[in-house]
Amino acid sequence: MKHLLLITCYLLSISAFSQKAITKNKKSIVASVEKHKQEMISLSDEIWTLAETAFEENQSAKLLADYAEKQGFKVERSVAGMPTAFVATYGSGKPVISVLGEFDALPGISQTATPTKSPLNEGAAGHGCGHNLFGVGSLGAAIAVKELIASGKIKGTVKFFGTPSEEKYFGKIWMVKAGLWDDVDVNISWHPSAKTEADVQSSLALVDFKVEFFGQAAHAAMDPWNGRSASDALELYTTGINYYREHVEPTVRMHYHIQDGGQVVNVVPDYSKLWMRVRDTKRSGMMPVYERAMKMAEGAAIMANVDYKVSLISGIYEVLVNREGGAIMQSNLELLGPIKYTEEEVVFGRKIQEATGKEQVGMDSNINPLEETKENPGGGSTDVGDVSWNVANINLSVTTAPKDTPWHSWAVVACGGMSIGHKGMLYAAKAMAMTMTDLFEDPKLLENVKAEYKERKGDEVYEAIVPDGPPPIPGNTKK
Ligand SMILES: [Zn+2]
Repeated sequence: MKHLLLITCYLLSISAFSQKAITKNKKSIVASVEKHKQEMISLSDEIWTLAETAFEENQSAKLLADYAEKQGFKVERSVAGMPTAFVATYGSGKPVISVLGEFDALPGISQTATPTKSPLNEGAAGHGCGHNLFGVGSLGAAIAVKELIASGKIKGTVKFFGTPSEEKYFGKIWMVKAGLWDDVDVNISWHPSAKTEADVQSSLALVDFKVEFFGQAAHAAMDPWNGRSASDALELYTTGINYYREHVEPTVRMHYHIQDGGQVVNVVPDYSKLWMRVRDTKRSGMMPVYERAMKMAEGAAIMANVDYKVSLISGIYEVLVNREGGAIMQSNLELLGPIKYTEEEVVFGRKIQEATGKEQVGMDSNINPLEETKENPGGGSTDVGDVSWNVANINLSVTTAPKDTPWHSWAVVACGGMSIGHKGMLYAAKAMAMTMTDLFEDPKLLENVKAEYKERKGDEVYEAIVPDGPPPIPGNTKK
């Protein structure tokens, strides 16, 4: 009986949903994205081929900014001290709804749009996080909304934020510091993924810092007693960090990249350097671990009898979830229905899975139901977190790669340069623009999203985790 009741409820909810008609404005959104489809695909493929990495995304940023300008947006370039950061604005007055677009690639994972590992340019960068799709998909959403404003169907302002260097240094922190979201009511973002859902999970807070040791060089055999080894200190430091792992909360992650461990074997190294990263599910849990990990550099320096220096690089907040916004996004995903794939695309997906040792199940095009928000979600980190502590933020994940695809890998690059990625990008543009339309049309929905943001943020005062001074643009960077 209980089961029967549940099934009846389920069927009722399905039929209630299927009766929900797509509005005229949402039809216009879908038509707009379809109208710009070929241009969006070309733009995405160009950025995919360029594969420019953090703060080097000059041509990619220009392609997006130029296209926005051509579509009638007012574009402000080189904002917040970053040549590749920009804001494109259309419309006037309230509400102000914005969307984020990333476009940086990852070093060393160049790949052709084929389902087996085969670099496009050996050793070059590749879009292993799908940011070519991310930037263009978001701009497509902004353009669709702009067209509704232009035709007088909705009133307000739409903004597209071109946000550089997500993979390193986290460009959005400086944009937040410059107050770029101060007049924005709600921000929308998405990310390429192996699944489709309104994303109501947080991410990990993280902090990056540099540890350097300064010793005394000497001949490694003839007079090593004259040497004080910076690499001894580095080894003692990482040993300390690896012991420390046992005594942190299970939610903490620590990793390091040794950037300089000496140059040759017959010299006692007088300099060493590593890039250290600490993460936790909350910034509040991360900060004490960060303090302790910094202090350990002093201990290592004492043991090796060398000098040391610790310098903050940057750090980001965990994402502040917004379930009210997630529910609006979810309703639009259900209106759109799942992405449909051709047989060739499913075969492509299976080949990717075969090549990466995964079960060959093809694409996951289901629209996941809105999940419970987990206390400790795990996963990675994003500088969308910093935006989400400064304005109400709604997140979306859309399938752009087959199920279980290893992320930040050649497999993601492959899918981002062909129709599987393109379909996800166009879908994301529609879902985000439809959600933005809901917020423009219904002040109550907008207020609910903003109220949840205020409640979740509470009394916490946002403090950007960055050193004073300009962003670390190449050429600007001091050692
Ligand atoms: Zn990413």
